Amino acid sequence: MTPFSEEKILELDRRHVWHPYASMVDPPPVLPVAAAGGVRLRLADGRDLIDGMSSWWAAIHGYNHPVLNAAIMEQTAAMAHVMFGGLTHRPAVALAGLLAEITPAGLETVFFCDSGSVSVEVAIKMALQYWIALGKAQKNRLLTIRGGYHGDTFGAMAVCDPVTGMHGMFRSHLTPHFFADRPACRFEGLWAESDLESFRQLIAGNYDEIAAVILEPILQGAGGMWAYHPDYLRGVRRLCDQYGVLLILDEIATGFGRTGRLFAAEHADIRPDILCLGKALTGGYMSLAATLSTRRVSETISTAGPGVFMHGPTFMANPLACAVALASVELLLASDWQGRIRHIEAQLTRELAACRDLPQVADVRTLGAVGVVELHRPVNMRQITRRFVERGVWLRPFGRLVYIMPPYIISPEDLTRLTTAMVQTIAEEEVAAA
Ligand SMILES: *Cc1c(COP(=O)(O)O)cnc(C)c1O
Repeated sequence: MTPFSEEKILELDRRHVWHPYASMVDPPPVLPVAAAGGVRLRLADGRDLIDGMSSWWAAIHGYNHPVLNAAIMEQTAAMAHVMFGGLTHRPAVALAGLLAEITPAGLETVFFCDSGSVSVEVAIKMALQYWIALGKAQKNRLLTIRGGYHGDTFGAMAVCDPVTGMHGMFRSHLTPHFFADRPACRFEGLWAESDLESFRQLIAGNYDEIAAVILEPILQGAGGMWAYHPDYLRGVRRLCDQYGVLLILDEIATGFGRTGRLFAAEHADIRPDILCLGKALTGGYMSLAATLSTRRVSETISTAGPGVFMHGPTFMANPLACAVALASVELLLASDWQGRIRHIEAQLTRELAACRDLPQVADVRTLGAVGVVELHRPVNMRQITRRFVERGVWLRPFGRLVYIMPPYIISPEDLTRLTTAMVQTIAEEEVAAA
C-alpha cells in the first residue's frame, strides 16, 4: 500500500468520506489511526491513546490479538468466503454449536447475518413469520420500552426510542409500535411492582396485535446507558408467556460478558424466544451478527406457509468472520473474564465516585465493565474530545453521557488513566445554570 501522509489522509477523508452521524459541510474532526495493539490506538502522528470504548463494545480482547490474528490468517489460507446457500463449513457449524451451548437454554437455531441492525431485522421477520405460520397474521406489531436502541435500518429504527432514538424524522416511514415507559427501578435499587404497570397495560390491551416484545435486557445502550432492575425483565417474561407474545432480547451490546454475566438475561435468569448477538461476537475484528431462536420458533416457521424462513444475506456466515468469532468466544471462555469484569466494575465504581461531587454531574452509574457519568447538559463534543486526546485517552461521549467500556484486558494503571481523564475533563465542562 502506498503510504499516505497524515495531511493526505485528512484531505481525502474530508473530501470523500462520510462518517457516522456526521456532516459533509462541517465535517467533525477525525484522527487518523495507523495501528492498534492491546488497549492502545497509535495515531498517525505517533501519539498513543488508551482506548475506553472497545470500538463500540466490540474489541473485548483489545486490538491486534495474536490468537485472533492467527485464526483469521489460518482461515484466509483455506478460504475467505463461500456462499452459504447449499454449502456449509466448519467455522460456521462450530460457532453455531458453541453459541447454542453458551446462550440461555432453548436457543438452538442460529441464523448468521452481517450486522447488529440486520440481526434485529431478522428477529422481527422471524416473529412475524411465526404468527403467520400459526394463522394469526394480525399479530404483526411489536412492543418495546422507551430508551431503547436497536440499530439504524428501518425495522430496527421503528423500535428505537421515538425521542432519543435519532430517527424521529423518518417517523412517517416507520411501522407504529407500542412503547412502554422506561423502567425506573435501578439495577441495584429497590424493586416496585408498579414499574411494570405501563408495560402490563399495553400488553394486556393489545396482545392480539402483538407479535413480540423486543428490548435490551438489563442495560439499555445507545438510547441512554440505563441499567434497570432484573425483576422488570422477569415480569416481562411472565407477561409474554401469559399473553402469548414472543420475547426478543437484543444482546448486541450486552452479550459476551460486558455486564458481568455472559449474557445479561442471566441476571434475571430468563430465556428469550429469539436472541440477537453482534458487536463483541468477533472480538471486534469484523462485522458479524447472529439471531438465535428456539426450536418452537424455527420449526413453526418451517412447517407452515412457505415452509422456509425468508432471509439470506450474500455474505451469510462468512468463514473469516465465523473463524475469528469462534476464536474470540473460546478465548473469552478460557480467560478469567468474570474476575476481570469484577475488578473493572469495582475500580470504575471507586474512581468515578469523584464525579458525584461535581456540579456538572447528574448521575454516576456502573454495571460490569461499563461506567456512565450523566451530566446536566450535553457536552461540547469537539472540545471534550480534544481534551480527552490531550490527556492521552480515547472516549466518545454522546449528548449528556460520558461513558467508558474498556477492553476486558485493561490493566488497573491504564484504567486509572482513563477514569482520571474523565473526572478532570468533566470538571472542566460548563456547569448547568441553576
Ligand atoms: C449497536 C447496536 C445495534 C446495531 O448494531 P450494528 O452492528 O451497528 O448494526 C443494535 N442493538 C443494540 C443494542 C446495539 O447496541
